[in-house]
This record gives sequence, structure tokens and C-alpha cells, in this order.
Amino acid sequence: MIKFLDLKAINDSFEPELSQAIKRVMDSGWYLLGEEVKAFEKEYAEFIGTKYCVGAANGLDALRLIFRSYIEMGYMKEGDEVIVPANTFIASLLAISDNKLKPVLVEPSLETYNIDPGEIENKITRRTKAILIVHLYGQNAMCPEIEKIVQKYDLKLVEDNAQAIGAYFGKTRTGSIGDAAGHSFYPGKNLGALGDGGAVTTDDKELAGIIRALANYGSKKKYVHDFKGLNSRLDEIQAAVLREKLKRLDADNQRRNEIAQYYCENINHPDVILPKAADYFRSKSSYLEHVWHLFVIRYSERERLQQILVGNGIQTQIHYPVAPHKQSAYSELHSISYPITEAIQESVLSLPMSQVMDDKSVEQVCKTINKF
Ligand SMILES: *Cc1c(COP(=O)(O)O)cnc(C)c1O
Repeated sequence: MIKFLDLKAINDSFEPELSQAIKRVMDSGWYLLGEEVKAFEKEYAEFIGTKYCVGAANGLDALRLIFRSYIEMGYMKEGDEVIVPANTFIASLLAISDNKLKPVLVEPSLETYNIDPGEIENKITRRTKAILIVHLYGQNAMCPEIEKIVQKYDLKLVEDNAQAIGAYFGKTRTGSIGDAAGHSFYPGKNLGALGDGGAVTTDDKELAGIIRALANYGSKKKYVHDFKGLNSRLDEIQAAVLREKLKRLDADNQRRNEIAQYYCENINHPDVILPKAADYFRSKSSYLEHVWHLFVIRYSERERLQQILVGNGIQTQIHYPVAPHKQSAYSELHSISYPITEAIQESVLSLPMSQVMDDKSVEQVCKTINKF
């Protein structure tokens, strides 16, 4: 069986370091807001290339906390609008609406599956306060056009970096491009914890301070509460685990890139649409613009292809079968149609992808698709 994602094999490949890291926390007797989190925040900020990193309980909270802080700082208020790609994972929208802000959906480009920069300006109104770019499937979504729009309309640029940890835009990492970024360490992400985890990165000292307080009952000093905060913290065990896994992240992402290249060069089925990534492979750069959280193909009869693959012992998944604007949770968006997002949603299929996949399995996936 070729698994879509073998989390056990991934984490086993970090032994004995992970067991030692957990033991270190057990021996310390300290479980929250201690030395491991402090060290991870410092190492992760250095890795991403920002001045500050604040741990959070998960990626959704990291994003929620960013918008909540902008509200506390007076940059935004209830009913203000935030631009977001229509084909993202629903958590991007939840972070906006949870703060009583309004998600304004923009269609993606069919070439990259990331927000189409040419469609953004049409959606800007007097109430637009921010753009939330999502580096979807692991691919950088930033480009000079977005930079221009952000400057022209004086918007905040927030990054959803849940899927693209380790990726670059030019020579800077995603997560350090905008005013603030939310990161997820959900077990299946490229940098996965052994449970939930998340973080915010930013160069904005005031923002980092408010987020840190908000995530800790709104308190900077024990029993003094400046905000109606929440409890959203990265715990010591997860921080200790992430410190070990961070050391190998670039190498792991390079391995993903190798697998993606093999897929792109060896899947040749006339009706299967592969990701357009030839440039990355040609450039042979260590500054990966795509870290292949997911390897997503499109095919008009994807259910049939998925069945054939399962029949041959190959697991696949669909990211995502129902777009946010079609979910019951977002009934207010049902009346608007997003044809590109819907076309993507109806045809995407994610192939097995992870750093522990061996060459033989990758080859077998290609052969099975080509035979189909
Ligand atoms: C995973 C993910 C999130 C949420 O992260 P959690 O840690 O699961 O809360 C947000 N946005 C995107 C694009 C994601 O893939």
C-alpha cells in the first residue's frame, strides 16, 4: 500500500531525537510557556526571517489572533473587508469571520491555484483593510502586482503560511513577506507537531506583544488583563518536538521537490493536468518557491482515476471537495458563483507526497496513472 501520507514513518525517521526531546520536557517538569517554547520561537523567527515569533495553539488561532490584534490596535473594525482566495482551506475564512470581519473572495489563477493578482483590484472597496494571501499547496503566492496593490490602497498584508513552511519568494521566506503571517504545525503539514500547534511571525513589535497577551487570557503581567483574550498557546512538548524537526525541514522539502520533479517528468497522460512548475526544476535553486505540501493534479474524471489508483494500492485525497462559498457555514456566499474555484474543486486530486516516500513508490504512481 502506498499511503497518501505516512505520518508514523515520518516521525519514526526523527527517532531517537523526538523521544529525547519529550523526555527533556518530562525531566524539566515545566509544560507551558517555558524554555522550549522560548527557544523554538527564537529559532523559528530566525528560520523564517522575522524579528518576532509567538507560539499559538494551532494555525487557525494564529490567523485569528492576527486579525483580532489589528482590531485591538484600531486598524480594523467590525464589518471591514479582507480579501482572500476563494479556493483556500476554510480556516483562512474562519479566521476573518470569527473577528466579525467580512471575507471577500477572489478567484485563483488556473496556472498556480493561488490568488489571481489581476482579480484583486475589482474587489477593493472603501472598507477593504487587508489581503490574506494563502501560499496554497506549498507554493508562494506573493508577486510584485500584489505588492503594488497593498501600497496603493494602504492595506495590511497577512500571509496564511500553513502549507508553505520553508518556501521562498525570491530570497525571502514566505511568512516574512507581509505584515504578519500565521503558521500551522498540524501533524500533516510540512513541519508537523505530534498534535496541534501554530505560530505568528512578524517584524511588528507592538503586534507581537498584543498577540502574546491575547493568547494568554489578554494578560501581559500575571492577573493583569488588558484585553478580553483567549487561551491559545504552543505547549512545551510540541515546541521541543518542532525544534528537532525544524533542523531537517529544508532537506525534507528538497526531497519533496525531487519527488514532484519525478512526477512532472514521468506522468504523461494526455488528459491529466500537472502543476506548472517546470521553472522551479530548471532553476535548480535552493530557494524553493514551492515546497509541495500537496502535489495536486487535475483530471475531468477524477473519481474514476481515484478508484483505479486505490485498486492498485495507491491512496489519494481531494483538497478540497467543497469550496468554502458552497459550505453551509457560509450560506451568505451561496448566491455568488466562482467558476474557476468550482472547476478546480471538481477536478483536483492530490497524489501521495512526503519526504519518506521511496523512489519505487513514486515510479509506481506514475506507471499506474500512465496505464490508465
Ligand atoms: C491547516 C491550515 C490552516 C489551519 O491550521 P490548523 O493548525 O489546522 O488550525 C489554515 N490555513 C490553511 C491554508 C491550512 O492548510
